[in-house]
Amino acid sequence: MKQLQNYIDGKFVDPASGSYLDNIEPATGQVYSQVADSDERDVEAAVQAAEQAFPAWSTMPTAERSSLLLALGDKIEANLERLARAESVDNGKPLKLAISLDIPRAATNFRFFATAILHFRSELHTMDLDALNYTLRRPRGVAGIISPWNLPLYLLSWKVAPALATGCTVVAKPSEVTPMTAFLLSELCAEVGLPPGVLNVVHGLGPKAGAAIVRHPRIPTISFTGGTVTGAEIARTAAPMFKKVGLELGGKNPNIIFADADPDQVIRESVRSSFANQGQVCLCGSRILVEESAYATFVDRFIEATRALNIGDPLEEPTDQGALVSKAQLDKVQYYVQLAREEGGNIRCGGSIPDSLPERCQNGYFFQPTVITDLSIDCRVNREEIFGPVVTITPFKTEDEVVEYANATDYGLAASLWTRDLSRAHRVAERIESGTVWINCWMIRDLRVPFGGTKSSGVGREGGEEALRFYTEPKNVCIKIGE
Ligand code: NDP
Repeated sequence: MKQLQNYIDGKFVDPASGSYLDNIEPATGQVYSQVADSDERDVEAAVQAAEQAFPAWSTMPTAERSSLLLALGDKIEANLERLARAESVDNGKPLKLAISLDIPRAATNFRFFATAILHFRSELHTMDLDALNYTLRRPRGVAGIISPWNLPLYLLSWKVAPALATGCTVVAKPSEVTPMTAFLLSELCAEVGLPPGVLNVVHGLGPKAGAAIVRHPRIPTISFTGGTVTGAEIARTAAPMFKKVGLELGGKNPNIIFADADPDQVIRESVRSSFANQGQVCLCGSRILVEESAYATFVDRFIEATRALNIGDPLEEPTDQGALVSKAQLDKVQYYVQLAREEGGNIRCGGSIPDSLPERCQNGYFFQPTVITDLSIDCRVNREEIFGPVVTITPFKTEDEVVEYANATDYGLAASLWTRDLSRAHRVAERIESGTVWINCWMIRDLRVPFGGTKSSGVGREGGEEALRFYTEPKNVCIKIGE
């Protein structure tokens, strides 16, 4: 059985413990590979390699660093099918989603930051004719990067690419639930000639390998994407060490539909924003809020479109809905559907494990896309992140009411709103507490804009210059101009 080793100092190495964890294919429930069970000794080795690589990498001409990252983007594209298949097997997502979204975007991340760094500006402030202040931005050293399982290569590359572009070196820990594409990325790094120690990948459990990265005294920068509870734990550990921390956390995003919106577009896009990747995208709109006059028709049409989704083997072309990532995630979704029943919800479709699945998938972690109505806006199911194929639909009467509903969670990651009234769109967008608001669309991503959440959805912003600034330390140099 394939064993996924750590990638440290340009070499594939066993974990210090010598032990490996089982890696399960979610569509079958079967162990199909094993992944290094690393601890603080592996993290220490990775930090040493990253520190040794830092002086040469951070002073390498920017154009050369850029070329290497472009080459990595090209390598990802050249291996598109192989990586997409690996991600589909590892994660349970439909292969066609990995081919069309996750892997191309991972290539784009490297290309985007490889070229963004060539345009990275420093500021200059003149004080009349007395003095000039310019800002030097230098890479902060070794960056610790911890990423989740839902979009494994995409979210890892979203952090690794800007860190490397600025001249930082990296110790990364992907989720142990989906380690395969990070392992394959390590192979591609070796193939393009990325210098040893520039990117180190340490696999293993969050509370062990991940926590060792967070508390390591010589990793001054931590970039984390994952759950809010883990984010709070990381913040607690990092704060007394004065680390620079970026936290991209959970969401409970409203999808707001006014009666004047284009009905066909709204159904099509709401199905996508509810159930893409089995609802396991932090940006999914898991709370649909519909203006009262359009509510009944919307619910009927939305349920019909949801029932038409094809659940099946992620590797087969017709499949729209694959498996959830793990047994734990399936249990969590089932728990929340039961809670919805207890909270008075009406399960309008789905709500259970599908009856018929292909032979190969009989023991996989599948759950039907589920639509729930008649819940109060402040019940737990409407406030807590489920992160699965479960949406609630709630009617609203007025603009004020929907803003109140939209903001009625601790989260503030993203929102979409659908209306043909542009003035209303601007008004409502301004009042929603979230890092992103999409108007008449969902998940359009311009990599130059600041990306992140507010409230319990995190602190800091990724993307564009924000990311390049995150991995660099500004130093103000003040020059007095002569008498
Ligand atoms: P987790 O918080 O469980 O894990 C994220 C990563 O952190 C994993 O690599 C995990 O390792 C690791 N980890 C766990 N515990 C610790 C610890 N104590 N110290 C350091 N690292 C640790 O999240 P999930 O993987 O379950 O991902 C789903 C969550 O991510 C959802 O809440 C989702 O909303 C959020 N997310 C946010 C996004 C955003 O951009 N805001 C984007 C995508 C997802 P291990 O896997 O071994 O536990």
